[in-house]
Amino acid sequence: MPQPRRAGKRNEPQDFGWVISFGCKTTGTLRRLKVDTDPSSDTSPIEVPCPCGETHRVTVSPYRRRRAADEPFDLEVKSLDELR
Ligand SMILES: [Zn+2]
Repeated sequence: MPQPRRAGKRNEPQDFGWVISFGCKTTGTLRRLKVDTDPSSDTSPIEVPCPCGETHRVTVSPYRRRRAADEPFDLEVKSLDELR
């Protein structure tokens, strides 16, 4: 049986995903959406199901950035395609 070992992987910086910030007009707060995959390939607007109960239309482009390891977020998706 081959070992499922990935050489060198341990020393690479870890990937904590991306964060897209958006304003919730209903509650007047800034929310964070975590995305696992780099959202830059498609910057068309997304429909985010906000914790406030409403769905907000969010523009992607200017607000994406790397997520820090301990940075909190309000909701999470693997890909922005889930919100289109
Ligand atoms: Zn909201």
